[in-house]
Amino acid sequence: MKKGVVAIVGRANVGKSTIFNRIVGKRVSIVEDTPGVTRDRIYGDASWLTREFRIIDTGGIELENASFTEQIKMQAEIAIEEADIILFVVNGREGITKEDTFVARLLQKSRKPVVLAVNKIDDQIYKDNIYDFYSLGIGDPIAVSGSHGIGIGDVLDEIIHQLPAVEETQEDDVIRFSIIGRPNVGKSSLTNAILGEERVIVSDIEGTTRDAIDTAFEKDGQKYCVVDTAGMRKKGKVYENIEKYSVLRALSAIEKSNVVLMVIDGHQGIVEQDKHVAGYAHEAGKAVILVVNKWDLIEKDSKTMKKMENQIREQLKYLDYAPIVFVSAKDHKRVHLLLPLIQEVYANSQKRVATSVLNDVLIDAQTMNPTTTFNGGRLKIYYANQVSVCPPTFVLFTNDPQYLHFSYKRYLENRLRDAFGFEGTPIHILCRKRD
Ligand code: GDP
Ligand code: GDP
Repeated sequence: MKKGVVAIVGRANVGKSTIFNRIVGKRVSIVEDTPGVTRDRIYGDASWLTREFRIIDTGGIELENASFTEQIKMQAEIAIEEADIILFVVNGREGITKEDTFVARLLQKSRKPVVLAVNKIDDQIYKDNIYDFYSLGIGDPIAVSGSHGIGIGDVLDEIIHQLPAVEETQEDDVIRFSIIGRPNVGKSSLTNAILGEERVIVSDIEGTTRDAIDTAFEKDGQKYCVVDTAGMRKKGKVYENIEKYSVLRALSAIEKSNVVLMVIDGHQGIVEQDKHVAGYAHEAGKAVILVVNKWDLIEKDSKTMKKMENQIREQLKYLDYAPIVFVSAKDHKRVHLLLPLIQEVYANSQKRVATSVLNDVLIDAQTMNPTTTFNGGRLKIYYANQVSVCPPTFVLFTNDPQYLHFSYKRYLENRLRDAFGFEGTPIHILCRKRD
């Protein structure tokens, strides 16, 4: 299911990130914090009434050595490209500036729905300031105070009102996968290599929104779809090299996929940006395959592959479930291994285990390695259930969740992996108190 996307634009210091934080709030993730994922997030998931949407603070995407005007132009263009609705924030204390007018014109041209928030109206006495902003010509200004939390509800009402209907894209018999990674690791080459394989029958599907293009194909009776191939084909995209933007693109591709192929440049090894992208793939709970590309450029002996594998495992500890494949997109070497592996990890992410077998495995695990005292008590697991797939998620009903030490959870995860074979997919274990 595709969520609507809202992007915040506006000059520096008008209060974008204050409003962003108000809207996103502090959400507790069910997944442990992933090392390597940047703390200064520029996107978040939000909900209001019954609707959920994603929100991006474009103020966090920065161009080095750019003038204010270049900076805001870039941010507005990214917002227009990525979002369904734009939340345009201006400063109600300062009145309209020439940058506000400039942004308003770009937004007008884009014909995207715009919600106009006039910020820093902390007090009724400033309320009349908002009328000036009608002259921007992009609709009714809403008075808000980000720092006091005033008017945010009105902004959210308006966002929900304009949010497009939710698209149901998922077809059951299609495996949707994305090929993500830094610029120049070989994503396009790999896509072409996969699509160029024998017996692959290809057709493009124009996305209904923006410039998204997914490529559908069939091989050996299995339907697949490579999501977001447009970005890969359109070479020399203007903002592709801005890290935060490219991570954001990866994120939206990840979300649309069942399986993520995370491409690493085998010649360069893992760099910081790889960790950010990989961290998001992990957090999204999708099946992941690590693809080391450009293997043709490496001088190899019998230990090279093992060495590289150890390096990757060390740097991307949290992706220990992801298989690693060494390929050369350029020479089409080992690329044929990918589709069968995609099928396999997809199946693993969809796997449901019978409750009785699950409970047998957990009883055996506890017999072999009984729980010890932690946080003032000893964990008793009464029974467990698998509550969902993608990723497979298990709930343990216990005497008290706080007695569960993370290393014991890790141990149980490993036992489940040994018993059921979840290669390529994360699994989540939740712990509840039995009432
Ligand atoms: P951004 O650069 O647009 O993301 O702006 P920030 O959210 O970082 O805010 C810039 C400054 O304006 C900070 O000092 C905020 O505390 C302040 N600020 C944000 N919202 C309000 C508001 O509603 N009223 C007042 N008085 N100050 C605000
Ligand atoms: P993208 O930006 O991730 O889509 O990367 P491209 O597919 O455009 O590839 C970037 C550069 O790496 C191009 O010059 C490719 O020819 C080159 N490249 C891609 N795959 C391989 C490979 O397996 N081996 C070698 N030697 N070069 C490759």
